[in-house]
Amino acid sequence: MSTSLLYHAFGIRGYQYVSSRYEFGEVIFRIVKRKQDLICPVCGSHKVLRKGTVERWFHSVPIGSKPVAIVLAVQRVLCLVCDSLRQIQLGFADPRRRYTHQFERYALDLSRCMTIKDVADHLNVSWDVIKDIQKRYLIRRFSRPKLNRLKHIAIDEISIGKGHRYLTIVLNLHTGAVVFVGEGKGADALHPFWRRLRASGAEIDAVAIDMSPAYIKAVRDNVANAAIVFDRFHIIKLFNEKLSDLRRDLYHQLSSEKDKALLKGTRWLLLKNPDNLDPSRSEPQRLEKALEINKPLSAAYYMKEELRQLHAQPNKVKARTFLLDWIYQAGSSGVAMLRKFARTLAIHMEGVLAYYDHRISTGPLEGTNNKIKTMKRQAYGFRDQEFFKLKIMALHRTRYALVG
Ligand SMILES: [Zn+2]
Repeated sequence: MSTSLLYHAFGIRGYQYVSSRYEFGEVIFRIVKRKQDLICPVCGSHKVLRKGTVERWFHSVPIGSKPVAIVLAVQRVLCLVCDSLRQIQLGFADPRRRYTHQFERYALDLSRCMTIKDVADHLNVSWDVIKDIQKRYLIRRFSRPKLNRLKHIAIDEISIGKGHRYLTIVLNLHTGAVVFVGEGKGADALHPFWRRLRASGAEIDAVAIDMSPAYIKAVRDNVANAAIVFDRFHIIKLFNEKLSDLRRDLYHQLSSEKDKALLKGTRWLLLKNPDNLDPSRSEPQRLEKALEINKPLSAAYYMKEELRQLHAQPNKVKARTFLLDWIYQAGSSGVAMLRKFARTLAIHMEGVLAYYDHRISTGPLEGTNNKIKTMKRQAYGFRDQEFFKLKIMALHRTRYALVG
């Protein structure tokens, strides 16, 4: 084989082809470095003495379906200039890896549409080799995202799998990139993020979060100049939780079996967007009957429908009037759950209305969350937490979001 083919087909330059053989279904090329090409890996001097060799094998790109191995007696040299005794630099592979750079690139290309196992099977290497290649690539490209131009971010936690394990995710709302994945939830999970953010010199304009005191404090303490925007979906979600609780409490208070039967199974109807109620299953009628028997429940239900309009106001002034009105109605409804919720919104009013200054939400995180769940379903290698986190940070670049 010519030196040129060695370079163009296998990415190996500065070596000479010696021989090839075919063994156990594998093509094996032996190559050698010419004596006059030996240089000191430390100072680059040609004045070196040969001091023994170590034979090494490298996986290279296959020829068709045939795996290819490159065999080389790696020369150790003693430098007469700087007196160091080292193995020469390979050029075509990283020092401690058993595959060539070309092999690595090929494995990464395949990883864009194949699972780790498929790539490993195709290239006749172990699962760990492909995972190692992916991981090193992900570290290079995604482990230290640039934070200096960050302006609008969303923070939320996601639950992963069983055992109430959580990850806290920070999303760049402009690029959709996950810029941080923290272990656990709450303020502690975010400490490393704030540290990196400070070091980057970024000036955050606004942060979308839910109304949890831990996040509020964390944002206040760490990016005091940023506006807090309480996520509109979380507000409705929180209200729905309270509405469910109310329905359950009322159900248990009812003495008449007939009334209980009417209320039974109405939880989803209460939470559903009214436009989505299915007439063919008489959902609107069932909901109406359930609301008729119970005044507090119907009050809460209609207040929820009102609340959903809060983020559809034409401007901040109108929205403020709308919210104050909602708070007044809820506060004077005589329903404890509504009074309590009115208080929550009154306390958080500025953050709720800040949506009209910065139209951001944690909504995009929801999409990321779904992708993570899909990823987890196909994944067996995610016992390696760091690998899993890196994959999350690569998600927005679908071209690079390597498959399981
Ligand atoms: Zn030297």
